[in-house]
Amino acid sequence: MAAELLMTPYAMDRFMGRLIAEGPVMGPRDRRVQPGFVKFEWLSSADELVLEYTTTTIPPKKAFFPPRQPLFEFELSEPPTITAVQEATPFTLVGVHPCDLAGLSMLDDAYAREPAEACWPAARARARVIGVDCLPDEYCFCFAMNTCNSREGADLFLTPIARGYLVEVLTEAGEEMLRLSDVEDAEDEDRSQAQAFRRDKGNRLSASIDASPEEFAEILETQELGELWREIAGRCYSCGSCNTTCPTCFCFDINDEFDLGLTGGQRVRTWDSCQLQEFALVAGGHNFRRIRWQRVRHRWHRKFLYLYRTFGRPYCTGCGRCSRACTADINIVDVSNEVIARARGRV
Ligand code: SF4
Ligand code: SF4
Repeated sequence: MAAELLMTPYAMDRFMGRLIAEGPVMGPRDRRVQPGFVKFEWLSSADELVLEYTTTTIPPKKAFFPPRQPLFEFELSEPPTITAVQEATPFTLVGVHPCDLAGLSMLDDAYAREPAEACWPAARARARVIGVDCLPDEYCFCFAMNTCNSREGADLFLTPIARGYLVEVLTEAGEEMLRLSDVEDAEDEDRSQAQAFRRDKGNRLSASIDASPEEFAEILETQELGELWREIAGRCYSCGSCNTTCPTCFCFDINDEFDLGLTGGQRVRTWDSCQLQEFALVAGGHNFRRIRWQRVRHRWHRKFLYLYRTFGRPYCTGCGRCSRACTADINIVDVSNEVIARARGRV
């Protein structure tokens, strides 16, 4: 597959307009209350789509795994009834950056692990995905995480060039989407401009983790760094923002919400955060990570050790969202490099 085509800005506008007219499309849109910031939202016209942006606060995983998701409705009748809440409408997710494509792919693997979760793959199967390249800021470290050129799960991928966009056609679904669109074959000059865009992006990436994923995992596994975790925990508020903004966090909680008459209700799942004090609280009142430094350490161990060992890559895309969102200014790259420096200082 992987044909490379050219789409002019005018043709792109018409293409997006047609997709939106045909069915639900979620994409990055200007946050009206905070101009200059974009968020993934359902679009009502092509004018709302912002294809060139640095990042969003909340990653596009919310298209497949909403922060609050009803699973089924129940009625306490005789006999009781249960009705699954099943969304069946196909949709298109537009404007996904390479690191977020990698994040979605990591969640594919995480939710497929036995016992497999059913909602995520069902939502993924309903969607077509269009990726777009990005210009990173000082928080991004996707190069270190090997996600900066990911095309995982994308049907089409766009790179901005002088004449519009270089369009990589990656799947048959992508080819089908372009069927009625105004595209032409890309020329060598278009391809070299796309390569220059990627080089420029690489040159802007200054943040990096100072060890390979394997070395970092080994450090976390073998070094006792309690003093450092206590220092970081001394600044952390346990607010959970680092988890709720993370494209690779997949933990959730499940609750039954009853109506006021207690005759029925909904079972709902919501995003959860391992940084919240009650996250590891179990029946009987024991809390496996009651103390804050244990939860801070857990976040690093989870992303760079346990899930790395399970899935063969760190569960961090290098998007920098957790660092941008942290009110305590706890930066994942700085902390990781401090871990590495202290560990190496001991050897
Ligand atoms: S966002 Fe910052 S302050 Fe909040 S839990 Fe995460 S590390 Fe702690
Ligand atoms: S841990 Fe932070 S930098 Fe890594 S994927 Fe999650 S939000 Fe992005």
